[in-house]
Amino acid sequence: MSLKFKFDNTYTRLPDYLLTRLSPTPVKNPESIIFNFKLAEEMGLDMNGINNQNIADFFSGNKLPPNLETFSQAYAGHQFGHFVILGDGRAHMLGEHIKPDGERVDIQFKGSGKTPYSRSGDGRAALGPMLREYIISEAMHHLGIPTTRSLCVVKTGETILREDKLEGAILTRVASSHLRVGTFQFVASNQDIKTLSQLVEYTIERHFPDLKNSNNIALDLFKKVMNLQIKLITNWMRIGFIHGVMNTDNMALSGETIDFGPCAFLDNYDPKTVFSSIDHYGRYAFINQPVIAQWNLVRFAETLIPLIDSDHDQAIKKIETEILNYDAIYKKSWLRMMKNKIGISGEQENDIKLISDLLDLMHRNQADYTNTFRNLMNEKLPKERLFNDPDFIFWEETWQNRIKKNINTVEKSFDLMRENNPVIIPRNHLVEEILADANNNKLENLFKYLDLLQKPYNEISEEKYLNSPPPSDKIYKTFCGT
Ligand code: AMP
Ligand code: MG
Repeated sequence: MSLKFKFDNTYTRLPDYLLTRLSPTPVKNPESIIFNFKLAEEMGLDMNGINNQNIADFFSGNKLPPNLETFSQAYAGHQFGHFVILGDGRAHMLGEHIKPDGERVDIQFKGSGKTPYSRSGDGRAALGPMLREYIISEAMHHLGIPTTRSLCVVKTGETILREDKLEGAILTRVASSHLRVGTFQFVASNQDIKTLSQLVEYTIERHFPDLKNSNNIALDLFKKVMNLQIKLITNWMRIGFIHGVMNTDNMALSGETIDFGPCAFLDNYDPKTVFSSIDHYGRYAFINQPVIAQWNLVRFAETLIPLIDSDHDQAIKKIETEILNYDAIYKKSWLRMMKNKIGISGEQENDIKLISDLLDLMHRNQADYTNTFRNLMNEKLPKERLFNDPDFIFWEETWQNRIKKNINTVEKSFDLMRENNPVIIPRNHLVEEILADANNNKLENLFKYLDLLQKPYNEISEEKYLNSPPPSDKIYKTFCGT
C-alpha cells in the first residue's frame, strides 16, 4: 500500500541529542474512526484503493513502510512557570512530508507509545481527547486561525488506564513544524551555543526564509515569532478560545495553535474564565493569554541572547527593546480586531471605551460571547437580560451613532461584523455530547458537527448548535489527563 507520502526529513540532521530515532509501539487491533479526506487531498496523498483497514494499519503505526525514519523530539519548557526537561512522551514523527504546493509539514502520531521522554506516562492517549483535538483543531482552521491540523484518529483496540478504563487511540497531526519555544530552551539549558545557532538557522530556513540575509537573524527571528504570536492570540481573543495550557513547550514558533489539551471556548463573557481543572490560580485564564504569551516570549528571548550580540549587555538591550514593543503592538492588534467585531472603522476618541463598555455590560449580564456580537446586527434584539439593561440601550445608541461616522455604509459595517464574528464555535457542552456518543460507537453526530464547523461564519437555523449551554452545564471543567 502506498499513500504517496513524500518524506524528506531535515530535523534529523540536527545534532543527535535533539531527537531519538525509534518506532511507534504496535497496537493490538487498530480501527479507523475518522479520516480527513479533504486534508489528505490537499496534502497530495493518494487514497486510491485504500480501505479503512489500510488506514488503520498505517496510522496506528502497525504497518509502516520499511524506509521511514521515525523519531521523537526532545524539548524543555516552563510548565505553569516551572522549568522542566520534556520531549515527545507519546508522540512519534513519521516524517516531514512535502505537499504538492511545496510546503513542508510534519506528520506526527500522538498516543503511539512510550519514548525515552515518557517520564511516568504510558505513552498512550484516549479516544475522547484525540477526537476532541480533531474537532477543535479543524474548527480553528475553518475559523481562519493558524493551527495544526488533524488527519485521522484510529482506535488502538487497547484499554488505557486514566481515572477510568478508556479506549486507546492515536491521532495523526499535521503541523508546519513542531519547533517550540521549549526546543530553544532545551538547547539553551545545555549552554550549547553552536547548536542554538544551528537551530536559529534551521527555523529561519523552515519558516522565515526571507530573513536569511538579515544582519541580526536571531533578533529578527524573535520579532517574527513575536508578531505571529500577537496575531494568534488576537485571533483567540476574537472567538473566545482559551488554550488552557500555554506552557512554553506548547508555543509553536510557526505561530500555529498547538496542543489542544484542556482548551475550551467562552460561553458567557467572563474575562477570568478558566476551564482547566489543573489551573488552580487562573494563570491561563482568558484575559491572561496576551500576558502569558509575552511571558513565554521573554523565555524565548532569553535563549537567544548569546546570538544577538557578542556584548552581553548590548544583547539584552536590543532584545529588551523588542519585548517592550509587545504591549503597544498587541493593544493595536486587539483594538483593530474588536473594532471589526462591532463593525467600526477609522479612529474616534472613544472607541476603546465603547468596546470596554460593551464587554463590561456583557460580563455583568452574563451574555454569550459568540451570540452577542451576531445579535447586534439584528433589527429586533432577542429578549435577553443584556438587551434589556438600560445601560445597554444607551450603549447601543452610542454605537449606532459611531457606526454612522464610518467611511463606509452600515451594510459594509455589518459585512465586517459577519466576517469577524463566527456563528458557530465548538461549544463545550456540544463537544462533550458528541464525544460521549463517539465513545458508544455512535459517530453520525460527530460527522455532522464537523461538517457544520467547516463554515463557521454562515447562518444556520438549528438552534441546538447556536445556544449557550443550559445552566446545569455551565460549570464546565476540562482535564489534562489526556
Ligand atoms: P502537554 O501538556 O500535553 O503538552 O504534555 C506535556 C508533556 O507530557 C509532553 O512532553 C508530553 O509528551 C507528555 N505526556 C503527556 N501525556 C503523556 C502520556 N500519556 N505518556 C507519556 N508522556 C505524556
Ligand atoms: Mg505539549
